[in-house]
Amino acid sequence: MKTRLFKIAKALGLFALSRRLTQGGLRILCYHGIWLGEGHYGNFLFMSPEKFAARMAFLARAGYPLLPLGEAVERLRAGSLPAGATAITIDDGWHGTYRHMLPALEAHRLPATVYVTTYCAEKQYPVFDLVVRYLLDRGAGQELDLAALGIAGAGRVRLDTPEARGAAGEAIMAHGREALDGAGCHAFGARLAAALGFDYDALVARRIFHLMSPAELADAVERGFDIQLHTHRHRTPLDDPEALAREIADNRARLEPIAKRRLHHFCYPSGVYERKIWPQLEALEIESATTIEQGINFADAPVLGLKRLLDGQDVELIEFEAELCGFIELTRRLRRPFRRSVGGTTAAEHAAG
Ligand SMILES: [Zn+2]
Repeated sequence: MKTRLFKIAKALGLFALSRRLTQGGLRILCYHGIWLGEGHYGNFLFMSPEKFAARMAFLARAGYPLLPLGEAVERLRAGSLPAGATAITIDDGWHGTYRHMLPALEAHRLPATVYVTTYCAEKQYPVFDLVVRYLLDRGAGQELDLAALGIAGAGRVRLDTPEARGAAGEAIMAHGREALDGAGCHAFGARLAAALGFDYDALVARRIFHLMSPAELADAVERGFDIQLHTHRHRTPLDDPEALAREIADNRARLEPIAKRRLHHFCYPSGVYERKIWPQLEALEIESATTIEQGINFADAPVLGLKRLLDGQDVELIEFEAELCGFIELTRRLRRPFRRSVGGTTAAEHAAG
């Protein structure tokens, strides 16, 4: 239905018109990883190598000027962006990104920024939260004894519904955060996989949930890719300025020796942020920060709350085009005053959000 509407809009010339009307805006594309396992898993989190390569081929011929993020942010502030300016950002720094995205970008000489979270990159443990979610999703329909896995106060759960799997996942991830270190989470992952009948060693060997190693990051930098900040432990402590400063300092301490320069661009882990931390980020010399809010950035966009266009495995090319040309952005902006009047959101709230 949506796809058909976009095709009609494009045929009527509305994509070309939208592109002209929104040409002053900066498009920041957001990618995550590449799926290296069996079947497919994830939409926004993992793309297939083929889908990502096809997207880059499309971008290379679509005529949008692809700028390095730092230059794009500078020119957004200076009001000197070329028409349709676009930047590519890739979150987390997955091993699959190294294996498949970097070569696809190089094939078309496209610049990209990779935001790297460093704890799991340095330790080379698979990312625990994702291992847990994946195993529970693939174990759908099974019964799991959380108490036997050492989670106090929990019992047996049936992984029948997304809600049940979500709740079990939350309990396990909370246990990981509160009671286990990296090595403990790694060992727990192996026990969880065994309990559900999966081969943990194979997941580890294929580095499906691994981030790039420091050597791979150094190679990426060597090849001209921009690496930037994403906190050390993938979290933004909103109510603890000291912890936030430490997250960024620890992240910088790992990445700056690899990048061989000061890093000033930041991506909020899981998109979590509040405006109240902006003065602190400024004090920490953060010059731009990206969210996972969908949209195009115009001259009035706050540089510490930049919107992005999320691309994913289930996003069809026509929908991606509809975002890139600004057609969806315009429909969003047309709907907004209406939503505000019916939803009761005030102008002040709009300015503060
Ligand atoms: Zn992330």
